[in-house]
Amino acid sequence: MALDFTPTDEQRMLVETVRTFMEKEIYPHERETERLGEVPLELGEQIKKRSKEYGLYAANMPAEVGGGGLDFLSVAMMDREIGKSTWGLCGWIGRPSEILNACEGEQRERYLLPTVRGERKEGFGLTEPNAGSDAMGIQTRAVRDGDDWIINGSKHFISAVRKPDYIILFVVTGQDETPRGLRKRITCFLVDVGTPGFEITRGPRPVSHRTYHNYQLSFSDVRVNKRQIMGEEGKGFDLAGSWLANTRLLVAANCCGKAERALQIATQWAATRKQFGQTIGKFQGVSFKLADMATELAAADLLTLHVAWKYMNGSMTNGDAAMAKVFASEMAQRVTDHAIQILGGMGLMDELPLEMLWRDTRIERIWDGTSEIQRHIISRELLRPHET
Ligand SMILES: Cc1cc2nc3c(=O)[nH]c(=O)nc-3n(C[C@H](O)[C@H](O)[C@H](O)COP(=O)(O)OP(=O)(O)OC[C@H]3O[C@@H](n4cnc5c(N)ncnc54)[C@H](O)[C@@H]3O)c2cc1C
Repeated sequence: MALDFTPTDEQRMLVETVRTFMEKEIYPHERETERLGEVPLELGEQIKKRSKEYGLYAANMPAEVGGGGLDFLSVAMMDREIGKSTWGLCGWIGRPSEILNACEGEQRERYLLPTVRGERKEGFGLTEPNAGSDAMGIQTRAVRDGDDWIINGSKHFISAVRKPDYIILFVVTGQDETPRGLRKRITCFLVDVGTPGFEITRGPRPVSHRTYHNYQLSFSDVRVNKRQIMGEEGKGFDLAGSWLANTRLLVAANCCGKAERALQIATQWAATRKQFGQTIGKFQGVSFKLADMATELAAADLLTLHVAWKYMNGSMTNGDAAMAKVFASEMAQRVTDHAIQILGGMGLMDELPLEMLWRDTRIERIWDGTSEIQRHIISRELLRPHET
């Protein structure tokens, strides 16, 4: 495949559609919901309804399961636009976890298809109070009992726009002997909220994506059937691994969108705000900042597109996705911070979306693997061929 990022006509139309959607259905609700700290359920449902009308709901999922069937590059372009606002609102546009494509048999009717239709909502349950970056450190366990498994343990920081209907849950189901010592067997279960012994409660409110919920999960002798295992027993991390890399790339795309919106606000301000008898954009202290912001954004955009292109032709490595995430998320932090500086005090006021973009950007360096973990992934790939 030739290296050419010129959008196709379809991709251009898609981006235009998402932009119109954001302007009509998302931006007008930002200020009110940020102040409220909550997206009212009726508003969320309205965004979902409109998203379906625009053909955006589950656009990332394959057409044969009722999704939009977009290729990954197009999903990244869509996510760049969606990244311009906050997840509490944009989560309602509907981008189901692609990991659900691993559903088989009755799992498709029970989980995958209703999720693509927007009737059910999933949560992705990996992180635990004692296991964040060290995902292998999870302690939630499932023990076999005939055809069933009994789950005990807890999770936190499990996020969604509203209380999920079921959780894509990662638990320990044993251990294997390997040449490097004992290794936990991690299995992925689909666990319905409402199953006896499974409690779900709202977690604390984060400063980023203020209106996006996160939940604490507790499992006390929760009985699930073996038919609720997604993929193979003991192969949960193979599933999660393949999904996490493209999620990281979409975080990078989100960050480019955020940075672009912040840059637009800052540029407009610098071109009109006057101090000392002239517009502040005429001061090099301000204009050079704008130049650096635009340059860094262009570099992050290219890296993200390049890695998305590699994903499409099957050559993307985990290190590639990590590079895009770490570079774009750190770029977005600098760009939103400079933008605030250019607006001065006004940058911190909730009259404008800038302070929200600045706050929201902070989490992009943490969730889906912190910047430090991304650097581990990149450096491991660099060093591995030289190991003796
Ligand atoms: C709002 C929110 C929503 C989230 N949503 C979900 C979700 O839906 N599902 C889910 O499963 N998880 C979710 N997460 C969890 C998120 O992925 C974790 O917070 C993240 O992976 C970091 O884990 P931690 O917070 O436990 O930090 P820790 O792992 O405790 O890390 C603390 C610090 O130590 C550093 N560190 C750790 N190990 C190393 C190392 N080896 N080398 C160098 N530095 C290191 C980290 O980089 C970090 O700076 C969410 C988190 C938040 C805040």
